[in-house]
Amino acid sequence: MTSLAASEHVSSYYAATANNTTRYPPLQGEHRADVVIVGGGFTGVSAMLHLAERGYDVALLEANRIAWGASGRNGGQLIDGFVDSERIEKRLGADAVRITDQMGIDSRQIVVDRISKYSIDCDLKFGYVELALRDSDVRNLNSWLEAKQRANYPHEMKLLNRDEIRSVVGSDSYIAGLVNMGNGHLHPINLCTGEAAAAVSLGATIFEQSPVVKIHHGQKPRVETTSGTVHANKVLLAGNAYLGRTEPKLSRKVIPAGSYVMATEPLSPELQRELLPTDMAFIDLRAALDYFRLSADGRMLWGGMCNYSGRVPRSIEASLRPGMLKVFPQLDKARADYTWGGNIAISLNRIPQFGRIEGNTYYVQGYSGHGLAPTHMAGKVLADIVAGESEQFELLSKVHHWGLPGGKWFANPALATGMMYYRLKELL
Ligand SMILES: Cc1cc2nc3c(=O)[nH]c(=O)nc-3n(C[C@H](O)[C@H](O)[C@H](O)COP(=O)(O)OP(=O)(O)OC[C@H]3O[C@@H](n4cnc5c(N)ncnc54)[C@H](O)[C@@H]3O)c2cc1C
Repeated sequence: MTSLAASEHVSSYYAATANNTTRYPPLQGEHRADVVIVGGGFTGVSAMLHLAERGYDVALLEANRIAWGASGRNGGQLIDGFVDSERIEKRLGADAVRITDQMGIDSRQIVVDRISKYSIDCDLKFGYVELALRDSDVRNLNSWLEAKQRANYPHEMKLLNRDEIRSVVGSDSYIAGLVNMGNGHLHPINLCTGEAAAAVSLGATIFEQSPVVKIHHGQKPRVETTSGTVHANKVLLAGNAYLGRTEPKLSRKVIPAGSYVMATEPLSPELQRELLPTDMAFIDLRAALDYFRLSADGRMLWGGMCNYSGRVPRSIEASLRPGMLKVFPQLDKARADYTWGGNIAISLNRIPQFGRIEGNTYYVQGYSGHGLAPTHMAGKVLADIVAGESEQFELLSKVHHWGLPGGKWFANPALATGMMYYRLKELL
């Protein structure tokens, strides 16, 4: 939930190695722009840069700092795909799937192109592996690979069997893996602040430490902080799991859930080569998945443990370390230098939510844990709607999203029960 007391980035490996320390001033007094964006994570910053590139006068208000929320705390895994095809087909039909599949491929491309276009120094590395723990996972990986091949997927992919998987991950836990050389990993704060700087160089204005407390909708909307107002033609809401009560119509449509990451001390080059010799990003296929990779300075970044109650564990390290040691007992002696967590916004049907509140206020939220690349596409779709191009927005805003009776605080136990059901199914 956004509080009026603005804060700095949480302590993390990313904050400690951020290469852009630019500070933007808080909003003071009256300001005018074509478009005002609320929230300075990947969604808001992506929209800002798309708009600035098209010549719009755009202002962005961030309650804390650019990339303060999930965008500056995530696993840094750049994974394409926008939304699960089956879920879209069920709701919108096969033609819609063709559109959203292409959006998924393009979402990753936006990130890669921007890093290159604006020379953003964010440790981008290619290579990503989905890991099988069970025979059913192997069957899934096989059918996903076949589907990608049928669809002429543009990136190199390869299924590694039980013998071959050891060539990318030094663990006995996995029985197969699907390698995708189009995906990869990067330093998320450095990506987001690099994109923000690019937008500012094109004329965009950023106000940090400027929590929006009131939005006036309508044909000539305006947003207010306690010290100023921005008048605009369009408002874009990009607060995702942290929007809180800023827009009550949105808060009951998603559930914030915590995910947590631990960064070990830098590992010796020999240990890095033993554990992850090809320096790719990894996830397993469970509902409450583990995700891991090496940082640029050779730490194990280990993430997982989705927490549906919304309560931060007393010790993140104590919660994550057993899972890490099960996969990599070799890390027994590795010290944890950083631990942190962040909120993801879960959409009950796992489809990102696009919509219009009223008048000229639009939003996207609910990436359900996979958002680094999708937020970049969502930012483009928001910029398109400002420019009057609405095909993808109209399509996705047709998906119905149930509100949660009583709001998220009542809903969390219900979600926890639902997730337990999937965990049980997995265990069985
Ligand atoms: C621990 C963790 C690991 C993850 N790992 C991955 C991964 O490896 N790969 C992947 O694809 N996805 C991952 N995700 C998901 C991904 O990070 C998110 O989907 C994505 O960053 C969401 O971006 P966003 O801009 O929509 O929201 P956020 O980054 O959360 O940004 C929202 C911003 O809005 C601001 N805000 C809210 N309310 C107001 C207000 N009233 N006024 C002004 N500002 C406001 C907040 O301060 C915040 O900075 C992970 C998430 C977490 C938490």
